[in-house]
Amino acid sequence: MPFVIELKSVGVTYPTGNVTALKDISLHLPAGAFAFLVGPTGAGKSTLLKLLYADVRATEGSLSVAGREITRIASKEIPALRRQMGIVLQDYGLLPQRTVWENVMFACEVLGMVRKEARLRVRERLEQVGMLARCDAFPAQLSGGEQQRVAIARALVGKPALLIADEPTGNLDPETSAGIMEALLAICAEGTTVLVATHDKNSVDRLRRRVIAIERGTLARDEAEGAYGYAE
Ligand code: ADP
Repeated sequence: MPFVIELKSVGVTYPTGNVTALKDISLHLPAGAFAFLVGPTGAGKSTLLKLLYADVRATEGSLSVAGREITRIASKEIPALRRQMGIVLQDYGLLPQRTVWENVMFACEVLGMVRKEARLRVRERLEQVGMLARCDAFPAQLSGGEQQRVAIARALVGKPALLIADEPTGNLDPETSAGIMEALLAICAEGTTVLVATHDKNSVDRLRRRVIAIERGTLARDEAEGAYGYAE
């Protein structure tokens, strides 16, 4: 499998208001890559990420994700595609009535994992994000950064080839954000491809990783050791 993400001249026009959100985007991410996706609000970052988990369809060009051509993926095949990736969003999305442990365990159940293996995986992932000690807490008892760590553990429990994060530190203070970014880098170091849309200038400038910039729906920059490139 040469690339985990491959876009060829992809365009997206939303039917509502005839908005062209992306134009002629060609992009490759190999297995194990880490990249930040940056750009002004409304540039098309979320649209690009949604393309990857088939929440939005390309109206031009073609794309493949995790070795699979998904340009015209059938709706019934989308759940299987999403099981191959972890998705982390800004709002954590934890189930409020369930503990930390149960939230991550629930993802294992959705994946149809056998109980014994699920318990091992939940433990391993919570440990990795530093949340095992809080496994009996409910989401409301946790800080935003802690909730996001749990959301990351949940996204990773199925050992996905790809982790997609859309503004994972959007609600967090700089220090907490830095911790979340470190956790994402550690996950990448294990071989998972990680793509993170972010406005976290501090982290992007400090970490000097690959930076893909989208401006007005077009690919403006793709730099190996890039900077954020915008005022905060
Ligand atoms: P970003 O994530 O960089 O802030 P988005 O991908 O959310 O940008 O949006 C890109 C453009 O597409 C914006 O002009 C936005 O208003 C428009 N857009 C996003 N979602 C929709 C939608 N569902 N219908 C119509 N237009 C949309």
